[in-house]
Amino acid sequence: MMSRNISFRIITFGCQMNKSRSEHLSYLLSRSGFVVAPTPEEADILVFNTCAVREHAVERATNAINQMVENIVSQRGKVPVVVICGCMSELIRGKLLQKMPLVKLLAGTRRWDMIPSLLREALDKEEKICFFGEEENTPFLENGYIRESRTFAYLPITYGCDNFCSYCVVPYVTGRQRSKPEDLVLRELGDILEEGFREIVLLGQNVNSYGKDLGVEFTFERLLGHIERVFGQEKIWVQFITSHPRDMRKSIIEKVQESNILCPYFHLPLQAGSDRILALMNRGYTQRDYLEMADLIRNGFSDAGIGTDIIVGFPGETEKDFQETLKVVEQVQFDVAYTYMYSPRPLTASSRLQDDVPQRIKEERLKTLNTLLREIHLRKVEKRIGTVVEVLVEKEEDSYYVAHTRSNLRVYVRKKEDLRPGNQVMVRLQSLRGTKIEGKVVAAGT
Ligand code: SAH
Ligand code: SF4
Repeated sequence: MMSRNISFRIITFGCQMNKSRSEHLSYLLSRSGFVVAPTPEEADILVFNTCAVREHAVERATNAINQMVENIVSQRGKVPVVVICGCMSELIRGKLLQKMPLVKLLAGTRRWDMIPSLLREALDKEEKICFFGEEENTPFLENGYIRESRTFAYLPITYGCDNFCSYCVVPYVTGRQRSKPEDLVLRELGDILEEGFREIVLLGQNVNSYGKDLGVEFTFERLLGHIERVFGQEKIWVQFITSHPRDMRKSIIEKVQESNILCPYFHLPLQAGSDRILALMNRGYTQRDYLEMADLIRNGFSDAGIGTDIIVGFPGETEKDFQETLKVVEQVQFDVAYTYMYSPRPLTASSRLQDDVPQRIKEERLKTLNTLLREIHLRKVEKRIGTVVEVLVEKEEDSYYVAHTRSNLRVYVRKKEDLRPGNQVMVRLQSLRGTKIEGKVVAAGT
C-alpha cells in the first residue's frame, strides 16, 4: 500500500472552526505525501472531523459515518481506513470504538501535527490507534491550509474558549483560549491575498476576547487596526465571527466604521432574552446590555447585519422567560439566526440542572421563534426590493450565482449574467421567491 499515493477525503461536521481545521489537516496530510481523492467513495482513507455541541450532532455523526462507510464497503468491496477526530471523539474517546468498530485511528482535538505519522503507523498495523494529545496550552501555531472555497478564506485567530457558558461543551473539548500571535495573523492574511481570495473570515469562539491570553496590550481592536493599516487599500472584505455580547465594545464597532475592508456584520449570539436565564447560562450580560449593543450597531451603520444564536428550553425556562426572548427578537430584528433546542451535555454546569422543559414545549417554542424570525426576515427584505446593493459572488448553485452583501444579506443572481465567483458587482434587488432574494446586475464590477 505504501508504494503508490494513498488518497484521503475529510468529511466535516459542525461549525466554521471545524471546517477551517479540516482545511489545515488537509494541508498536513498532503504535505506528508497523501493525496486528496476526487470523491469520498474513491478514498483509501476517510477522515471524519466531528462535532459534540449537541447530542443530536453526536447521533447524527455516528449514524452518518457508519452509513457512509457501509455504503462504500458494499460498493467497492473494500474497507476504507477510517479516522475519527475532533470534538466528538475528544469527548467520548474510547467509547466510540464500540459504536464504530471500523475505526482505525481515533484522535481528539489536539496535536493534529501527529496525525500523518500516526496514520502511516496505523496503515502498517493490525491494531487500532487511539491518540489524545493532552497539552492544554500549546502555542497556537497551526497554519497551512488547503481551502475548499476559491473565494473566501477562513483565518482562525483564536482557538479554544474560556467562557464556560453553563450549557456548552466547547471549552471542555477544545481547551483554553489560545490566540494566534499578531504577526502570524498578518502573515497568513498576506498569503491569503496572494492566493487571490476576495473575502476573509476571521474565526474564533469569541473573537472579541482575542489577545487576552497574550498580554494586556493585545486586543482585538489593535489586531483590527494592524489589519486595516496593512491591507486597508486592498479590494477585499473582512468579516469576523463570533462576537460574544459580553465582550463586544463600542471601540470594536468604531474600527468597523472607520474601515474600508471590515464588513458590518456582527454575529452576536443572544442565547436567551430573560435575565434570569442569561444568568443561569453564565453569559455575563443582561437583556438591557444586549439591546444597547444592538442599538449601537444599528445606529452606527446605514446597513448592518446582526446575526444570532438562540437556545429554547434551557432548564427552568418558563413561558414568561421565553416571551422575553421573543421580545428581544422583535426589537433587534435579526438578519440571520440559528436556533436550537437545549440539549444537556456531559461535563457542563447546566447538565447538573434538571432538563425540565418537556420536549413538546421545546418544539413548540422553537416553531414559534422560527416563525417570528421568518416574518421579520420577509418584512425586512420586502422593504428593500428595488434598492441597489453591492454584492460579492460566492459560488454557483444550480441556475444561480449565490452572492452576499457586506452585511451578509444573501442574494441570488440568475446565471445568464456573466459573473464569476469573486466578482464584486452592484445588483438591484428585484423579487422574492419564498425566502430567496433575486437580484439583477446593474453595474459591472471587478
Ligand atoms: N462560540 C459561539 C458558538 C458556540 S456553539 C458562541 O459563543 O456563540 C454554537 C451554538 O450552539 C451556540 O451559540 C448555542 O446557541 C448552541 N449550543 C451550544 N451548546 C448547546 C446546547 N447544550 N444545547 C443547545 N444548543 C447549544
Ligand atoms: Fe460555548 Fe460560550 Fe464558549 Fe461560545 S462562548 S463556545 S457558547 S462556552
